[in-house]
Amino acid sequence: MAGIYVHVPFCKSKCRYCDFASFPDKIGFAESYMTCVYREMLMRSEELKDYAFDTLYIGGGTPSVIDESYIAMLVAAARKYYKLAPDAEITIEMNPGTVSAGKIALYKKCGINRFSVGLQTAIDSQLEELGRCHNLNQFVSCAKLLKGENFSVDVMIGLKGQTTDDIDKTISVASAFGASHISMYALTPEDGTPIYTDYLNGELPDGDEVAAMYQFGVRRLKELGFERYEVSNFAKKGKQSRHNLNYWRRGEYIGFGVSASSHIANVRFTNTFDLDEYFKCILSNHLPVIDREEVDVDGRKEESIMLALRTSEGLNVEEFNSLYGADFFKEYSTALAKNSPYLDVQGDRVRIKDEYLYVQNTIICDFLS
Ligand code: SF4
Repeated sequence: MAGIYVHVPFCKSKCRYCDFASFPDKIGFAESYMTCVYREMLMRSEELKDYAFDTLYIGGGTPSVIDESYIAMLVAAARKYYKLAPDAEITIEMNPGTVSAGKIALYKKCGINRFSVGLQTAIDSQLEELGRCHNLNQFVSCAKLLKGENFSVDVMIGLKGQTTDDIDKTISVASAFGASHISMYALTPEDGTPIYTDYLNGELPDGDEVAAMYQFGVRRLKELGFERYEVSNFAKKGKQSRHNLNYWRRGEYIGFGVSASSHIANVRFTNTFDLDEYFKCILSNHLPVIDREEVDVDGRKEESIMLALRTSEGLNVEEFNSLYGADFFKEYSTALAKNSPYLDVQGDRVRIKDEYLYVQNTIICDFLS
């Protein structure tokens, strides 16, 4: 089954580390934008009429910042134009500073059954430093509104002045208020963002310090019953994100909206990052694609390995061989031998050992041409 992603590029304010397509000053265009998104969905519907979808992920930006009726119409459009399974996983990303009981009630009513909450850190001074538009209390109120729901919390490590006690507090609060899934990411100081200056000034923790924070977080999450299923993702039993698993299994997905990317029939393509350009394309009945690449067999093999080795389940060699008519152990014998201390090879399953998952990039590089 395939997935649907929709990008809502509006936020209350711009976080200091953000380089996503999000336009806090353009929120007044939300209605026109969402109308264009419904239209883009319609434009693609004929081409994708034979596809069955079992996930819808509404990300951003901050989808919860716009009026909830647009979100309800979006879910309705997905159901109208696509074969979206009745039991589809439907996720919405939320910023704790933008939620209300009324919004959550409508989300649930229209079929949203998974919530992804951007907490990042439970330390208010760090939230302020990041430029987040919420504090811990607002997260607690949001989590209370989500009581009994399937929700995920984003946690960030590698922050200025962050200690393992801070990470402990963040993870403990998320767990205590009922999160069933936690995504734990290291802050990436992207060039061009205000936080990049902090990085250049040497104010952020270095790589070794971040690695130690990560290992601490992994241990704490394990104690609280969260199993790691991908390098940055941890879930209670049965609560893995179906949508993300599809990405890591090299599944197909269609993306709508500014900057959304897609993978359909071995072609990867990306929409424009420019909001005005997006409007122009849709209003003139053109798809807003700016980049398109057909992935050849070698590329597909590399993607399969790269994505699978990020996960705890690893690569299913039998599936790989039958999909590509390959002999994995023979073709990759050099990379396998070089990395044997870091790999766990059991029968037809190759995975990176838990303790090396954080440095998977270096290992994976050996499998790429
Ligand atoms: S909430 Fe997310 S998308 Fe919006 S500005 Fe902050 S980091 Fe960027």
